[in-house]
Order: sequence, then C-alpha cells, then structure tokens
Amino acid sequence: MRLSCVMSPPKIPTDLGTTSTEDLLARRRALAGEIGDAQRVLAGSLVEQHRRCGRPGCSCAGGDGHGPYAYFSPRQIEKGRLRYVPARLVAVVRRYLDRSVEVEALLAEISAINVELLARRELT
Ligand SMILES: [Zn+2]
Repeated sequence: MRLSCVMSPPKIPTDLGTTSTEDLLARRRALAGEIGDAQRVLAGSLVEQHRRCGRPGCSCAGGDGHGPYAYFSPRQIEKGRLRYVPARLVAVVRRYLDRSVEVEALLAEISAINVELLARRELT
C-alpha cells in the first residue's frame, strides 16, 4: 500500500511568457527565498508491507504476515531497495518527503523562469 505519493508534477505558471523580466526576476527571488531548509529532504515514497517471519507454526504463514511495517522507497529505480522505517521515524520520514516535494516544486518553477529568461537572452 502506498502511503504517500510524491510524484505529482509541479505546477508551473503558464503566464511566464507575458510576464515582464523585472517581475520574473522578482518572482525568482521570492521563490528562492521560500526554499528555506533544503537539508531535510527525501526523494521517494513511504510504503507499507506485511512480512512473513518464516518460523514454523507461526500464524503469519497462513495469513497476511506480520505488520504492516513502513518502508522508504527511494525514487531512483536503480537504487530502489526498500529501507525499513522504524515506527518512531515514520512521521520524520513523511516530513522529509513532503519537504522534498516542496523544494523540488520551487526549483522547477525557478528553472521554468530561467528557461524564459534564456529565451529572452536575459539570463545573467
Ligand atoms: Zn510469523
């Protein structure tokens, strides 16, 4: 079961082409100021799974298994090994995931502004 979906695409404003360069620079500055703490980020998602312990006679063998336990699933498929998340850290991981989405959305918007500035040959 997926607890937290963080793959939603950032919303890039569509009016960049009609915004003055001065306003673009002001928006870029404001967005950069909003980024704030970029240390506590995790790119991926939180998933929960049941596990079978393998002990003979354990009731988990016939059922869903023990759990559910939380796991962090890194976004990069090549590094996609699930990492167990102790219950006491689930809220922390969720906060890091949310922060990652926020920072990435801000960076994506700044990048879109810079694409527009590049098109105007006003990237400095
Ligand atoms: Zn068991």
